[in-house]
Amino acid sequence: MSAALVWFRRDLRMADNYALVRAATESSTTYGVFVLDPVVLKSAGELRLRYLLSALFDLDEQMGGRLNILYGDPSKEVTNLCEVVGAERVYISSDVSRYSKWRDSRTRDALNERSVSLEVCDYPTTFEPRSIHKGDGTPYQVFTPYLRAWTAKVPEVRSAPKVSVKWEYVPSQRSFPSKLNALAPYETGGERKELEKLDTFVQSTLSRYESERDFPAKFATSKLSAALHFGVIHPRTIVSKLDVQAHKRFLSELCWRDFFAETLEHHPDSSWKNLNGAFDALEVLPASGSANFEAWKSGMTGYPIVDAGMRQLLREGYIHNRVRMIVASFLVKDLHIHWNEGAKYFFECLIDGDVASNSHGWQWVAGTGRDAAPYYRIFNPTTQGKRFDPNGEYVKRYVEELQSVPEEFVHEPWLYVDFEGLGYPFPIVDHQLERIEALRRLESMKRDAL
Ligand SMILES: Cc1cc2nc3c(=O)[nH]c(=O)nc-3n(C[C@H](O)[C@H](O)[C@H](O)COP(=O)(O)OP(=O)(O)OC[C@H]3O[C@@H](n4cnc5c(N)ncnc54)[C@H](O)[C@@H]3O)c2cc1C
Repeated sequence: MSAALVWFRRDLRMADNYALVRAATESSTTYGVFVLDPVVLKSAGELRLRYLLSALFDLDEQMGGRLNILYGDPSKEVTNLCEVVGAERVYISSDVSRYSKWRDSRTRDALNERSVSLEVCDYPTTFEPRSIHKGDGTPYQVFTPYLRAWTAKVPEVRSAPKVSVKWEYVPSQRSFPSKLNALAPYETGGERKELEKLDTFVQSTLSRYESERDFPAKFATSKLSAALHFGVIHPRTIVSKLDVQAHKRFLSELCWRDFFAETLEHHPDSSWKNLNGAFDALEVLPASGSANFEAWKSGMTGYPIVDAGMRQLLREGYIHNRVRMIVASFLVKDLHIHWNEGAKYFFECLIDGDVASNSHGWQWVAGTGRDAAPYYRIFNPTTQGKRFDPNGEYVKRYVEELQSVPEEFVHEPWLYVDFEGLGYPFPIVDHQLERIEALRRLESMKRDAL
């Protein structure tokens, strides 16, 4: 038995963590480390950083204040720490993004030069990436057959057993960049609070999930996306509380998360490039310098459901899934701006910002993916608003200018007799005209492709 590190990354938890199981059974002395990577910090907005802090502090507390938190290039920091403490192995959970794979391969090379091994013990998805595939070994390209195969494996899910690790600590090894020092941790983040949230959701909300999940005013979804993104909770922990038949719909949403991670695993460029290359020829408008893009970002498009969603994003670092689809469709099909501009902005602002779910969520809406999501499906923001927020409760929660507008005008305030006095913008584009324009662009792209 010898010294080892557990290098935490997107697995900021004590429970259901196979990296900890390996450390507890194979090492006499274990150090836990998290490296604040300037590359990752640069792309994260304030709310996501605050969530990260809450998750790190909770982990640290559970480790008796013994988490080594470093700042810098992870390959150098982890290798140095191994030298300082004489560790022979580093245990990690894998990740699927191109950057994380590059980082891990550099770190593995640096460690191997010093005869230290990097051991992959876990993964952030319900099942290990590449473990679900077609009979001929090739990956599924579309969701429905993937879901079928995924669901059949649910009974095989085995959470990691609880282990007790005696953590060691190197007092000189803690450094925080000033950018983080100035931030307060997010109030409800971290493993222990998120596990409580999971229990409350399963006991009180899950039974109405299927019927109410599409209504953004109803608080009918789990809001566990940030916990899943940071690995504060592993999806195995959630799946093992569910019933395959009774909770089919919720399971299928967790499956989307795995499917998108699997897609990224096989198509590393898909975080910014069209999965369907034919769409590279689609005419788009530039985001830079566009007043429409700025109006979209700040929630001033004049379409209430779009503006409520974009203001929820700014205020909470979160948007309800139905509304994510509506605002994304508006950017791509009404404003004709490339989906990756929207994805970049989402990624910056969302606490749950996740390369795989975000980029592929955008590709799904834009219709540029491999799945059966036709480009012609164009969300009408007014009818979507009326259908999924019938009394305007969600809109009024975020769009203050519309508080006094009677229900029947909430989604079409320009028809309200006192519209001029509201201080709310007139729609920046005419949806009916832009719908026709989106279809014209599609036809032109198809003609060019022939
Ligand atoms: C344009 C767009 C961008 C998105 N960007 C992200 C992102 O950056 N990070 C992210 O976690 N999700 C993203 N999603 C998916 C989804 O909107 C969120 O996961 C969901 O709204 C989170 O709320 P919840 O935890 O209450 O979800 P619930 O409905 O309670 O679902 C449970 C969990 O299943 C997963 N999930 C649910 N729906 C999806 C989905 N459509 N795709 C992938 N996973 C799903 C999430 O991990 C979620 O926490 C995006 C969707 C769209 C349309």
